[in-house]
Amino acid sequence: MCRHIAWLGAERSLAELLVAPPFGLLRQSWEPRRQRHGRFNADGFGVGWYAPTIRPEPARYRRAVPMWTDASFASFAGVTRSGCVLAAVRDATVGMPIEESATAPFTDGELLLSHNGRVVDTTVLTSLLAGRPDAPVPDSRCDSALLAALVWERTRAGVGLAEAVAEVVTTVGAKAAARAAASEAGAAGDVAPTRLNVLVTDGRRIVATTWNETLWYRLGPAGVLVASEPGDDAPTTSATPVAPTPGRASGGGAPAVDSPAQSGDE
Ligand code: GLN
Repeated sequence: MCRHIAWLGAERSLAELLVAPPFGLLRQSWEPRRQRHGRFNADGFGVGWYAPTIRPEPARYRRAVPMWTDASFASFAGVTRSGCVLAAVRDATVGMPIEESATAPFTDGELLLSHNGRVVDTTVLTSLLAGRPDAPVPDSRCDSALLAALVWERTRAGVGLAEAVAEVVTTVGAKAAARAAASEAGAAGDVAPTRLNVLVTDGRRIVATTWNETLWYRLGPAGVLVASEPGDDAPTTSATPVAPTPGRASGGGAPAVDSPAQSGDE
């Protein structure tokens, strides 16, 4: 599993958000504390951020190398500031390509998306895409890129951001579960569970789902931080559902933190 994080609020440097926290995204690339699947995240990393006074579309930097090896990122992270940042470190799912184009965040217009999880049977995604001729061409054959293209098809059709994400995640989750149940391996209880933890932003809102992995958020006077896991030991709220029932947590002007469902294999 990968780890991802989004910040929305007062301007912060990329280094303050991703590098400085003692257990922040950089550290999580080799030593995550809460990751349920996979030991480290060394197959690439990416950062997207907004500079709304210059243009509405975010800037993006992605590399297919471990975050800790990239001296170029280290050189600009301290001087690049934004009020909205989405970043991820990647532990590629077996069978998925390790390449920059398979690395989150994916982007379309003003949107950024990261997927922490896996859809083992990617025909679930390709068949859904085939039924949507207006969907953009995915960046990569990686499950996360296919999932992003499904979300872009919805948002391009004018569906609201939270609704688009919820619709795609629940559709893919249900279809993957049905396909697994119908297979011989599924009947034997031998199909790897689908994990659909998605983080999306348009620079003004953060939408997140938690589906078989952890999710945390911290709401403070300066903004909101949503992440797979906390970067330090300060108080943080877990948004991970404790029961396998649909739920939704949001509050007081906070960005939506959506929890459409959990497939309950943990
Ligand atoms: N399945 C995605 C990939 O291969 C995400 C991986 C993950 O969350 N570990 O990149």
